[in-house]
Amino acid sequence: MESFRNPAELHAWCAAEKRLGRAIGLVPTMGCLHEGHLSLIRLAKERCDRVVVSVFVNPTQFAPNEDYDAYPRREQADLDLCERTGADAVFLPAPAAMYAQDASCRVEETLLAKTLEGAQRPTHFAGVCTVVAKLFNIVQPDLAVFGQKDFQQVAVIRRMVRDLDFPVEILRAPIVRDADGLALSSRNAYLTPQNRASARCLSRALRQAQDAVAQGQRDAAAIEAAARETLQAAGWAPDYAAVVDAETLMPLQTLLPGASALLLAARKDGLRLIDNTLL
Ligand code: AMP
Repeated sequence: MESFRNPAELHAWCAAEKRLGRAIGLVPTMGCLHEGHLSLIRLAKERCDRVVVSVFVNPTQFAPNEDYDAYPRREQADLDLCERTGADAVFLPAPAAMYAQDASCRVEETLLAKTLEGAQRPTHFAGVCTVVAKLFNIVQPDLAVFGQKDFQQVAVIRRMVRDLDFPVEILRAPIVRDADGLALSSRNAYLTPQNRASARCLSRALRQAQDAVAQGQRDAAAIEAAARETLQAAGWAPDYAAVVDAETLMPLQTLLPGASALLLAARKDGLRLIDNTLL
């Protein structure tokens, strides 16, 4: 497995692979890799001849009051996991290698990025789009794999790819969960054992919504209210519980069967978790 810290060197390696006719898959991550990330690498590997994993805690997607400095970093463990999972190259740039000190361009999606996570984190998706656009330019992948865990992120990236004609296919990979239902996340490391136990309320709320829909519920407000109640009963304060159009993320009054999603964000003791399901 190759590893690169310099964007130009990674670009040259990718260009050489493409000249040999090899399809390249890209898996962007912020490291501290877990089984969720590894499932993305495996999916990319199934579809592509070469898989590039980026491990970069991207400063531009964190607001000043967020956890950029505290975000867990485990470079050697990440390299080992990438190698064992079949990645062909890992990209671990320093922030200075990605952003010139006087960098003055960014990529901004102006509609989907404003709601939900964007309402809480107004600069977040511009940071995400900018770094993903840069990674697409550096790697020029045929396929990029993102997790459904960050549902809004995939929708925003798909919109960016469509509107700016990036020649890359975006694959949305299923959420990988712990045995008790909690979606795997690098930020789960912040949970106390007690909060770890009560955090199951997010996946429980999603399961309850799926059950309600299976029994014929189509009223978005009722589904949202039930989810909020489940979160609150477990001591988690909902930021949002929203039934939305799965592509546009616009709020729905009535479920569009097969094209809707329930998105949740909840806080407890300064920690914030997100989860979602298609309905
Ligand atoms: P992150 O390192 O948190 O930026 O995540 C990198 C990629 O892994 C993103 O596309 C995430 O959506 C995806 N991811 C994170 N957690 C999970 C999970 N539990 N299941 C599937 N994909 C995930």
